Amino acid sequence: MKKNIKDYNLDELKQVMASLGEKPYRAEQIFKWIMQDNVTSFDEMTNISIELRDKLKENFDLHVFNILKKQESKDGTKKYLFDVLDGNAIESVLMEYKHGFTICVSSQIGCKMGCKFCASTGVKFARNLSSGEIVEQLLAIQRDENIKISNLVFMGIGEPLDNYDNVMNAIKILNNQKGINMGARHISISTSGLVPKIYKLADENMQCTLSISLHSCSNKKRSEMMPVNDVYNIEELMKACRYYIQKTNRRISFEYALAKDNNDNLNDAEELSKLLKGMLCHVNLIPINKIENGKYIKSTNENIIKFRDYLNKKGIVATIRRELGSDIDAACGQLRKKEVEKCEPTQEPI
Ligand code: SAH
Repeated sequence: MKKNIKDYNLDELKQVMASLGEKPYRAEQIFKWIMQDNVTSFDEMTNISIELRDKLKENFDLHVFNILKKQESKDGTKKYLFDVLDGNAIESVLMEYKHGFTICVSSQIGCKMGCKFCASTGVKFARNLSSGEIVEQLLAIQRDENIKISNLVFMGIGEPLDNYDNVMNAIKILNNQKGINMGARHISISTSGLVPKIYKLADENMQCTLSISLHSCSNKKRSEMMPVNDVYNIEELMKACRYYIQKTNRRISFEYALAKDNNDNLNDAEELSKLLKGMLCHVNLIPINKIENGKYIKSTNENIIKFRDYLNKKGIVATIRRELGSDIDAACGQLRKKEVEKCEPTQEPI
């Protein structure tokens, strides 16, 4: 397959142009055509000479995703199943809020983390998505809906910090003012808790929001829910979080999915308030979405509200996440890599 031109950030594209014997400003023109005008063919780049367009066509591809399926929820949330052109498929979700559109993107095809409550578990990990494939999820939806998306969250399939370099480069591409121009503050990275990568992220001097999937304050319970806790336990995770806050001065968002009779009683809330006391943070309470054959079921509304009120009373800012798209399996943790029958995979899953 030809190289995906969307994988290159603007500096890299300038180097590519130099290697083709072209002036650097050509890179800016091409970058603008791709990221702002969202073209789907090199021939639409009308201020580029036909010779250069031919050179581009020879060496690169625009890697335009096909929409295999699009579902719309009663609340307006839209779920896309994209053919990523190698036989694999991924899902992305578009949500509309008062302040604009948010896209929830996938960072990998499959996930290695194995969280017991998440639908992305149970499907084999195939590969990382490239930076261009991450960006293309946004471009494809912008084309399809004729909208401008203002926020992006890495909360789809995959563990973004397990695909660190491509995720960082995708953010660099998204940030660029000559392209999509999405500020880092409009981007959230959610992690199951890959501690060394949290330190690395802290040292990037980036303004993204970091979300930590915490879900329990007891190592025993958290390990049952999230095997990654056996590698990086809560103490190590919290140490990394404190380092992140100290380095970036950014508020961390802790995700806590409430499962009935598992992590949703007031003792759990008390433990959580002790763990987070004095930290620059926010707690996002998610009513857990039951997955097929999953043992965790949603807490009652009454318990969720009690849990939130308890935290707020203890001075911990906590909100309940509005459930969007649950009727189309687009709510938190419901995305999974769909097998695509019509395409033959070109590579064996790892
Ligand atoms: N791998 C990353 C991002 C993907 S999941 C992470 O673990 O953070 C995005 C968020 O949805 C995470 O907080 C995750 O724990 C949560 N989640 C996964 N499955 C869920 C489910 N069934 N119900 C509610 N939240 C879920």
